[in-house]
This record gives sequence, C-alpha cells and structure tokens, in this order.
Amino acid sequence: MEHRVIDLGGVRITRVVESEGPLLRPAEIFPDSTPEIIQANLDWLVPRFYDAQTDRLIISIQSFLLETEGRRILVDTCVGDCKDRARSDFHQQSWGWLDGLRSAGVSPEQIDIAVSTHLHVDHVGCHTRLEGDRWVPTFPNARYLFTHPEWEYWKNNEGHPALVRSGDYIGDSVWPLFHAGVADLVPMDHEIIPGVRLVPLPGHTPGHVGIAVEGTLKDAFLTADLFHHPLQCCYPHWNTRFCLAPEESRATRQAVMERCANEGTLLMPAHFPAPNAGRLKHASADDPKGHTDHVYCYTFEDE
Ligand SMILES: [Zn+2]
Repeated sequence: MEHRVIDLGGVRITRVVESEGPLLRPAEIFPDSTPEIIQANLDWLVPRFYDAQTDRLIISIQSFLLETEGRRILVDTCVGDCKDRARSDFHQQSWGWLDGLRSAGVSPEQIDIAVSTHLHVDHVGCHTRLEGDRWVPTFPNARYLFTHPEWEYWKNNEGHPALVRSGDYIGDSVWPLFHAGVADLVPMDHEIIPGVRLVPLPGHTPGHVGIAVEGTLKDAFLTADLFHHPLQCCYPHWNTRFCLAPEESRATRQAVMERCANEGTLLMPAHFPAPNAGRLKHASADDPKGHTDHVYCYTFEDE
C-alpha cells in the first residue's frame, strides 16, 4: 500500500485509508440536496466524487497518523473489522486497516495517543480489537483522548438513536477503553503536545473537534466532520442528517470555512478522497461552467 505523506516540517501526516468508494446516496446524507442540484454539478462530481450508476457519493474512511519528535498520534480509527453493525457496508468487515498502519511503518504498540474527533461509528472502530471474546485496546501503550462534552453525551445514552441506526459501537469500541483505564477526558481546546491542539467545532456532535497542526514549514488543519464532501464547499449551509445540533453545526461550518478561505489554510477533511489535502477558495461569480450558486471551491494541494 502506498501512503501519501505530508511533511509540515517537524511533523509528518500520513493518511491510513480503510475504504474509499461509493458509499452514501446524496439524499441519504444531505437533506438539502435535490436530484436537480446533483444533476447541475455532474460536470465536476463524476467520476471522482459521485458514482452516477449507483447514485452514491465517493467517501473516504481514513485515519491520520501524526509523527513528531518521537511521538505518534493517531486521529480517528475508521469503522474497524469484525464489528456487528446495522449497515451492511460496515458489518463484520475485514478491511485490514491495521495492515495499512503497519505498512506506513508503525506498529500498534508504537502509538502514543489515539484521539477521537467525535464518537461516530466511522471514527472509533479500530480503537479496539477482538481477543477471544473480549474487546481490548488495539494500541496497548496509548492513551485514548475524548473530549468532555462528547463523552458526556454518549455515556448518558443520549445518542441512543445513533446506536440503533449503526449498531452499539460505543459498547464495543469505546466503553472497553474506559474499563481498561486507558481513556482520558480533555477540554475541546486541549493542546495534545506543543504544536498539535484541538479546535472546538461543535454542532455535528456536542464535543466535535478539529485538530490544528503546526509545522516549521507550514501548518495544517484536520477538519474532521465539519464537512463531509466537496459538495458542502459549494453549499456550506448543507448539514448532514447526522448533525446532532443542526443550527449550531451550520453556524460552525460557515464561520470556520469563511475563516479558512480567507486565510488560505491547508485543510485535511476526514472524508475527502485522495489526495485529500487542499484549500478553500471563494467561488467566482463568473465561473466558466456557470455554477453561480457555489460559495467556495476546494482545490486539492497537489493539482
Ligand atoms: Zn465521519
């Protein structure tokens, strides 16, 4: 497996991909999407971002490995293998994400910190692995970081509808870490190590965070699920059906995207396919393809 590495200077970021392909229908994830809007955007959506045959958006499910000064930090851990899930795409899979991590040159034992941007099914699956009939921490030497408001929400079973929809991933992928004593709760603006800190992005979930990474050459911002698909760069007011506080989610997304577009921030969105990293630009009113309704366009870093 070939890994794309971004060197920020003193910090390397490697994507460890679990799956990348057609996954969700636009209407399934974006309540504001219509067949007409999808049709009007086919010129750039197909084939990289939308599979017209199956009416499914191309979604990447991946982790980000940060390596700096001997510290290895893993951001989110995908859907995972061997897990009982309601969605057939996720049920009892064997993607072999751990092999992908190893092929990036890192063993599970070498992970120092595993941080969750939020507790949705596609971000915590490889936190645990099956040993006999027990779920145990996949990274035996790691501390697992969760934000206070996020854990407060899920531990109190407020997220019950999501667990019915997805399968009880909190039970098999998060609770075992608390039982093993390897979980730490941190504030939403926590500095993990110098130059790597959490950034509050509330709305998608109560304790949802991005991660700002400072290098000596350049900086990057891991935006987690602030937006899921390039369509939301065109239409930043679009929430997903999975955004728990829709108004707050929309307000956070619009404010942060505007700031990132103005500052030219290098972004690494959780679900964008290869090459993933890129920047937001304000869309121009005289777009040659006539997309006058777009707010931003996303330009991939190495194109
Ligand atoms: Zn997600």
